[in-house]
Amino acid sequence: MQLVHDDLVQSRFSNTFARTVEMICPHCLKEAVFEARSWQEHGQQLAASELTCARCEDAVLFVQLLQADGTRKEAGLFCYPRPAGREPMAGVEHLQALSAPLARSYESALKLYNRAEWGATALTVRHLLGGLATRMLAEDKRDLPLTRALESLPQEVDLSRPLQDIAQLLAPSGTFGRQFDDEAQIDKVTAELLLELVEQLLTYLVVLPGTMADLKSRIATAPVPLRRGSGAA
Ligand SMILES: [Zn+2]
Repeated sequence: MQLVHDDLVQSRFSNTFARTVEMICPHCLKEAVFEARSWQEHGQQLAASELTCARCEDAVLFVQLLQADGTRKEAGLFCYPRPAGREPMAGVEHLQALSAPLARSYESALKLYNRAEWGATALTVRHLLGGLATRMLAEDKRDLPLTRALESLPQEVDLSRPLQDIAQLLAPSGTFGRQFDDEAQIDKVTAELLLELVEQLLTYLVVLPGTMADLKSRIATAPVPLRRGSGAA
């Protein structure tokens, strides 16, 4: 089940339940209007309806969570299967903090992708990669062509920085280290922060290399047009 944002709802019945929703159809992959004939309540907590795609006429199941008085709950509309569009990546606010223009490029790429404009999406992604490399490189390397700029990144960016200071935190005299002496005194906040710390480390040391390796092997076995183009890049 995927949350359906309010701004995708185009019109509502008099009881304020969604009548038409515009989103990328999970069946025909095109932006389409979905229309509900009626909603049925199931128990006290939800109502359901099958909305039909105006383009391919396939149905998508929508579920609306209800409040105690039977009216619809805000931000309580979900659908299955999920729309074909992509949601922004987790942590996108850090990109915004690094560079608003880069964040806007990423947002444009997502919007174009969600409108099924594949060529324009790819060009925007290329522009974003170039902008990102430029932002991370020292000034004298900012005019390098994209390939050289990307190759220079590992030498220019301090990749060990996220890992610094962790040892100190966990040392016997460190913020966390001190607390290990008395396990019974460790509270939820500390446990949560520690868990987050290890999750961030796992993301950096294990998940990122693993998902990049998976992605590269998917690129290597992608359909022919992509592989044909890769030699000229
Ligand atoms: Zn459709």
